[in-house]
Amino acid sequence: MADSTLENLLQEERVFPPPPEFVAQANAGPEIYDEARDWRSWWLEQAKERITWYREPTVSVDESNAPFYTWFADGQLNLSYNCLDRHLETRGDKVAYHWIGEPGDTRTITYRDLYEEVGRFANALKGLGVSRGDRVAIYMGMIPELPVAMLACARIGAVHSVVFGGFSSDALSDRINDAEAKVLITQDGSWRRGTKVPLKENADVALASTPSIEHVVVVRRVDNGAPMTEGRDVWYHDLVDGQDVECEPEVMDAEDMLYILYTSGTTGKPKGIVHTQGGYLTGITTTHHYVFDIKPDDVYWCAADIGWVTGHSYIVYGPLANGTTGVMYEGAPDFPDKDRLWSIIEEYGVTVFYTAPTAIRAFMKWGEEYPERHDLSSLRLLGTVGEPINPEAWMWYHEHIGHERCPIVDTWWQTETGAIMITPIPGAVATKPGSATFPFPGIGADVVDDDGNSVPLGGGGFLVLTHPWPSMLRTVYGDDQRYLDTYWSRFPGKYFPGDGAKRDADGYFWLLGRVDDIMLVAGHNISTTEVESALVSHPAVAEAAVVGRADPVTGQAIAAFVTLRAGIVGDQDLIVELREHVASSIGPIARPKSIVFTHDLPKTRSGKIMRRLLKDISEQRQLGDVTTLANADIVQEIADMAAASAGDE
Ligand code: ATP
Ligand code: MG
Repeated sequence: MADSTLENLLQEERVFPPPPEFVAQANAGPEIYDEARDWRSWWLEQAKERITWYREPTVSVDESNAPFYTWFADGQLNLSYNCLDRHLETRGDKVAYHWIGEPGDTRTITYRDLYEEVGRFANALKGLGVSRGDRVAIYMGMIPELPVAMLACARIGAVHSVVFGGFSSDALSDRINDAEAKVLITQDGSWRRGTKVPLKENADVALASTPSIEHVVVVRRVDNGAPMTEGRDVWYHDLVDGQDVECEPEVMDAEDMLYILYTSGTTGKPKGIVHTQGGYLTGITTTHHYVFDIKPDDVYWCAADIGWVTGHSYIVYGPLANGTTGVMYEGAPDFPDKDRLWSIIEEYGVTVFYTAPTAIRAFMKWGEEYPERHDLSSLRLLGTVGEPINPEAWMWYHEHIGHERCPIVDTWWQTETGAIMITPIPGAVATKPGSATFPFPGIGADVVDDDGNSVPLGGGGFLVLTHPWPSMLRTVYGDDQRYLDTYWSRFPGKYFPGDGAKRDADGYFWLLGRVDDIMLVAGHNISTTEVESALVSHPAVAEAAVVGRADPVTGQAIAAFVTLRAGIVGDQDLIVELREHVASSIGPIARPKSIVFTHDLPKTRSGKIMRRLLKDISEQRQLGDVTTLANADIVQEIADMAAASAGDE
């Protein structure tokens, strides 16, 4: 940003108070914000209430070595004990996961089943020489052995580093080497849209340059005859066969490392985000309980991949520690047809559903006929995470999935924050489409200008978190300096996540995308989010990305890339109409100078729009690194289209 603040262009008037029936049964009402005002003691209370400790902590946060904060430092616990053992007596036969394979095979896994499988595998890992503090890399798809592997590591005090199963061999070897992992756990292959992705073969390419790896454990999932290297590689089923189910959990200090997770790399070299035990579990169990309003009989489905932090916190550790029944689905949302998710919701009676804006925009693009095929009346609460949600996508979710009955929690957080930071409490807060509303109880957030001064309500600037929180990252693995530089030096004493935000007159927070993407048009800082949302508010549009391209007159001009809804054809008239639509809905300053229609946008493997490459295209530069893209082909396609339509304005 050139100037200190960000324009506030989009005005959203719609407000949705929580339905009275929801309020009547909600886990929390508005009083929770007052109760948490003394955040240090409130978090300590949550830690004691939600976790079974070997030694209960007496201290909350230690701020003496800021920003290297510690939480509950004298506490001792084990996460797998909290997720498994402590449930056995009261809910051993309760379903932990309803697992659905992409080809249609299913598994029902109770808490006792999971306890036994984790015990066996934990003993097996010990047998391979893995001990407390060792790093274990995990490169898998969405099969039950993935949470089993994570929990087995947690049980014996090993540190896991899960690498998303869609990543390339290079991404895998970089991450293994950065963490110096001793063992890799993978599978022969995974299912994706009816084809077998050769995970083990990909892993073998990585393993050619990972000297720290001593053993590779391979789960048989697709039976594709994956190559096995004698002496190094061992089948999971052979390894766990005959192992004892009892494995004494390691007593861990609250501040011992639990896992490393590399951020997806939307913005640069991946960072190994370090999370620890006690604070992390406190943050995720507390948020899971209040944000998703979890009840003992809920069937909860976080449809993310466990390879991302969303899956770590809200498929594995949070819901299991809270004793929740979850759904876990292996495959693609459009396989065999575009109603797969809705058919699962109907079949299992899912009550709480959590997905990403990118998925919701795909559902919009496919059309409402798919959800209409199914009875979605079991749903009572919906959530989103991953990107700012365009108000029109929010409305679509509200109408076609929630049937105007389910509150929506738009949850802002990051790999680094470990847990949800800005979100509605669904029984306490009236929502506005596109706003993540307010900081979670016990979390402090502000919007500041370049000098770190709070921007008055109605204005925009940099989002900051104003004080530490239990599930915060502790450092960047092996690189304390990068931790300081990236997160704590821009605004001393405050955590800087790298996102822009504004607050409206009621104090609601609106996330405005990454500050690196902000456009500077004729002296105005304009967020990509607001222009994209204006485009998506046109009935022909499903998805849009905008970037600021160098312009001799205005500094930057807005270049838009637009995906239309099913059945709509993009022509010159529509371009004119969309430009006018943006100008009239949020102001002439935001009128895109050019618009290119495309059937898809470049996305990261976690599904987020990658604007950097669109900027390269717009400025007719050599394309930057495309290896982190899920759909690399689209970039060249868009580049060709943009070249063909150059001059359109
Ligand atoms: P990298 O940090 O490597 O570039 P990443 O930021 O995409 O990768 P994540 O930690 O998964 O990796 O994503 C966090 C980011 O996603 C946030 O900083 C924010 O930009 C965006 N985000 C997540 N949830 C929301 C939300 N509800 N509203 C707006 N933005 C969101
Ligand atoms: Mg990030």
